[in-house]
Amino acid sequence: MRPLDKGLCPTENNVEIVVTDYTHWRNHLIQRIGYYCAYCNIPLSHSLNVEHVVPKNPHDGDPVGDVLTWENMLLACGPCNNAKSNNPVDFSKLYFPEENNTLLAFDVSTHTDNPQASIIVPKLGLTHGQTEKADNTINLLGLTDVDNRPNIVDIRWKRRRGALIAAEASLDLFNRIKQVAPDDIETAGKYIAINAAEIGFFIVWFKVFANEPIVIKHLTDTELIPGTAQSCFDAEQDYNLINRNPENEIDPI
Ligand SMILES: [Zn+2]
Repeated sequence: MRPLDKGLCPTENNVEIVVTDYTHWRNHLIQRIGYYCAYCNIPLSHSLNVEHVVPKNPHDGDPVGDVLTWENMLLACGPCNNAKSNNPVDFSKLYFPEENNTLLAFDVSTHTDNPQASIIVPKLGLTHGQTEKADNTINLLGLTDVDNRPNIVDIRWKRRRGALIAAEASLDLFNRIKQVAPDDIETAGKYIAINAAEIGFFIVWFKVFANEPIVIKHLTDTELIPGTAQSCFDAEQDYNLINRNPENEIDPI
């Protein structure tokens, strides 16, 4: 889950657009954050659900999300949307792509029972409370799910694994280019980001290239991959990850 900044409500003739059907945000969302699930970052060719971040029909007593406003909309894949369903969304108990620097909270790991499955886990080194929030989010979205049914629907774990293999192969090639053609590493970094844009699962790319600021610079280039919250990276300091809520003393992530 990459951190997102989808920007302010789109306007027409300097007036904020108003929709009467929330699915009419779909094209605006694709322009601002690309054709990815906001949660697992799987690239979608179709069936992008416009999803209410805070559910519009929650259970009694839980926060009610606005049905139509831009601020409450993201894109989600079927499995993330289904897992999330009408479960309560309380930002003080979860990490969300528009609220937090989610790359500080989550890591990608191999499933203990299935080496072919890559799943999302809380990052090591978090406080107890932060780990709990990361776990809550992972459970809400089913980000450790491995669907092995004959009629498999949820392929996030397979595609995440594929992204990891592609990113690691790209790192091998990048290291080779650094040695034999150091003048070309800027171009190589850009090509890697262009590939990442097609493959998605950005947490994998940010992890594999964590020590290669040239690549991170292109991965955060919103011309190549729209929507990544650039404020979550320190452009002056090797594109290191930075806290998104520094004023929050308990949890600045
Ligand atoms: Zn998803």
